[in-house]
Amino acid sequence: MDWIPEGDDRSLYLRPVLFASEAHLALRPARACLFVLIAFPTGNFFGADARAVTVAVAEDHVRAAPGGTGAAKCGGNYAGAYRAQEEAARRGADQVVWLDAVERRWVEELGGMNLFFVYGEGDRAELLTPPLTGTILPGVTRDALIVLARDLGLRVTEAPVALDRWREDCAAGRITEVFACGTAARVTSVGRVLGADGPWTVGDGRPGPVAGRLSAALAAVHRGEAADPYGWCHPVDRDPC
Ligand SMILES: *Cc1c(COP(=O)(O)O)cnc(C)c1O
Repeated sequence: MDWIPEGDDRSLYLRPVLFASEAHLALRPARACLFVLIAFPTGNFFGADARAVTVAVAEDHVRAAPGGTGAAKCGGNYAGAYRAQEEAARRGADQVVWLDAVERRWVEELGGMNLFFVYGEGDRAELLTPPLTGTILPGVTRDALIVLARDLGLRVTEAPVALDRWREDCAAGRITEVFACGTAARVTSVGRVLGADGPWTVGDGRPGPVAGRLSAALAAVHRGEAADPYGWCHPVDRDPC
């Protein structure tokens, strides 16, 4: 219990890991594995102040291809992504935007997070997120935000988003916010995009109100302050031993 940190943006992160543990080099699925559950106290993934992040579009690197392992939380997906992450960091970005491997045109994910695009404002805001086609990790936070957004009366569409459209709709003011989500970072707004043909800003470049509302709604469920009609929360015994 002492490990569970106090504070709004703090949590005890649980990460299950499964890896082959046998003394064997054969090219076949492992017959002996070690399953461990790592628990570690975490603060906000991107630091204490909730700023919007800058993202760089990965032009030369691919995270996941059709028929591959992109939909799984599999170690190889992450090892192969570090090169692009390093290049993005050199360009001054916090995270990589992954495009689809075939046409290099469709926006898939952001680093280790799923992406949402917000059209319009207030109660008439609509959300758009890329569909789960097998190359995108089906994040539980993505799922939860789709449900919470619909409960707030916002329309949510799962449809492919072209990179060009992202840029054009920001320039035209149609896209008002973009945010990424995942267990570790919860909801993170994207303020600026570095594309091959130059940078562009999303909205006013700062965290937006729709991201804020959804983040607060999710946090309220996490902390047991909001109703949990879908049974997402599992109480654990305070003193199991
Ligand atoms: C973990 C992860 C996500 C987010 O998944 P959650 O279940 O919401 O934590 C999204 N994309 C990638 C590539 C990930 O590794």
